[in-house]
Amino acid sequence: MDYLVGLDLGSTAIKAVIVKEREIVWRGKTPTAPDQEALADGLLQDGRRELGLDPGAACAIASTGYGKNLYKAADLKLDELSANAKGLFALSDGEARSLINIGGQDLKTIKLSDTGEVTDFRMNDKCAAGTGRFFELAARLLNVPLASFAEFAALPDGEEVELNSTCVVFAESEIVSLLARGVPPQSVIRALHASVARRAAGLLGRVSSSTVWLDGGPAQNRGLVLAIEDELLTEIRVTPEPQYTVAYGAAMSLL
Ligand code: ADP
Repeated sequence: MDYLVGLDLGSTAIKAVIVKEREIVWRGKTPTAPDQEALADGLLQDGRRELGLDPGAACAIASTGYGKNLYKAADLKLDELSANAKGLFALSDGEARSLINIGGQDLKTIKLSDTGEVTDFRMNDKCAAGTGRFFELAARLLNVPLASFAEFAALPDGEEVELNSTCVVFAESEIVSLLARGVPPQSVIRALHASVARRAAGLLGRVSSSTVWLDGGPAQNRGLVLAIEDELLTEIRVTPEPQYTVAYGAAMSLL
């Protein structure tokens, strides 16, 4: 098979990768909405077209994520945890032992053995605090695009504040009252990063490795990466394209 396709039908975004000889040669994403199968097919059509692939080019397809069973034509359907472990292990050249994955609606930690098997897995999907959705809500309240959070967090000025709510509904009112008090957005963003970092560290527990890996969409936020490093006092490494690690792992599972 020339090309391997990995589809990650996530709670927030559908991600697709096309892999050739273990390398991602195309990637694309679209927000999750009804008719996920058609959305995934649309992404794959874009990929084939942009790569100039002949419509009959042989592709094997693996689906994963919350919506994995919605993609009927998949040759392989696998759970997100296995896909994430597979993708991470391959992308880290077999080095990764501990991972924090932050998705749109859940926060997970995974520990791997020397051969890439999952030895421990924890998930917090009861509350949106600490997940991508929490960041999206904060971005709307602060009127700051998510992609600028790291830049804001690095601003030298601002007051030191904390976000203490463990529930997103209360965290929302905490943010609103901080803003009403005149606290600048950079202080709120730093507090938000620190609160997500505390949650992630609490879920991860003790780690034996000197490096902890991070993936999922929010891993693109460098400010969050630094806050997790401060919390764990450990080096955090982000997979090359963190939102696509799971889709890549699905594709690699076809080998
Ligand atoms: P899922 O697999 O659950 O759909 P993802 O891993 O795709 O979740 O992550 C989705 C989240 O990624 C969004 O909720 C958003 O918070 C975050 N995100 C997306 N793009 C960026 C970005 N450029 N910077 C920071 N966070 C981002």
